[in-house]
Amino acid sequence: MKKHWWIATGIVLLLTGSVSYVWGWGVWGHNKINRGAVLALPREMGMFFYDHADYLTEESVVPDIRKHMLNDKAEYPRHYIDLEKYHYADAASMPRTLAAAADRFTQDSLNKYGILPWYIEEMMQRLTKAFKEKNKGEILFVAADLGHYIADAHMPLHTTLNHDGQLTGQNGVHGLWEAQLPEMFGKDYSLHTPDAHYIANIDEAVWKIVDSSYRLSAKLLAIEKRLREDKDDQMMYAKGKDGQRALNKYGQPVFSYEYAHIFHELLNGMVEQQMRAAIAATSSFWYTAWVNAGKPDLSGLDPKYLSDRNTVFYKEDLKYWNLGKVSGFKAATEYDEMKDVPKH
Ligand SMILES: [Zn+2]
Repeated sequence: MKKHWWIATGIVLLLTGSVSYVWGWGVWGHNKINRGAVLALPREMGMFFYDHADYLTEESVVPDIRKHMLNDKAEYPRHYIDLEKYHYADAASMPRTLAAAADRFTQDSLNKYGILPWYIEEMMQRLTKAFKEKNKGEILFVAADLGHYIADAHMPLHTTLNHDGQLTGQNGVHGLWEAQLPEMFGKDYSLHTPDAHYIANIDEAVWKIVDSSYRLSAKLLAIEKRLREDKDDQMMYAKGKDGQRALNKYGQPVFSYEYAHIFHELLNGMVEQQMRAAIAATSSFWYTAWVNAGKPDLSGLDPKYLSDRNTVFYKEDLKYWNLGKVSGFKAATEYDEMKDVPKH
């Protein structure tokens, strides 16, 4: 699989820097979500997306690379929303557009406390326009980005000020939930979703996702807080070969297998459910933009031999998809250290 040089460079740079948390989901999660969304598309637009499934999979993490590698300040607030800072009570009371939000809360606040839902809506408009113009490069670029932000909106801790449990002494819970757990237990997840469907009210759908994530953030933090209470460092963290606390590729602590396992059990399917919901929403948002653009015929955008060649792989991947598996590529990982961690 061809890797873009800048993805590789981004990862090298990330390795040398310490960040509190890196991705919205782990790389593993983002890869699987965009790939799964391709497989959930109806055939009439799915073939075109499948022709570019590798691109959409790899590009699923590019918004985070843009954020950290290029230190693009405008990129940061697109990945989260600290709802408490906007005095969130319910979706109906929130401004409907980015411009209205800037009017009510000031641009400065938006830069600090995030714009995720409003940005998703802007990206939907951009994707619809790209479909109307049959602009292949723009369709793929925006679709990949949009998948990333929709996935971020399904990560509960992207909707709260207490995003890494830092306000309640739960540091590390972000990476544990979004990357370590799916990497450790995701191979058993069933990720199959029904086919993409048309969303009549995009604004309502976006806020429904955010509202549900916000509720889950309180739940998951409460569960982890209780779990942490009587545990010492010895039990909580994995040790490396040198006997010191193990760190993942990005310098974050690796939780012990036992701790991660109990947390995963207590969450009772929450990570799997959110991944599945992110796949379903991504494919439905892509599909909706295409319908709103007048269902342009995408079959002419690629040479026929490419689609012909891919048809056989597409069928094969759909077979696994119907069994709940997103296959056909190797997702990147961040917690290879877990291989050395004893499982009790
Ligand atoms: Zn992100």
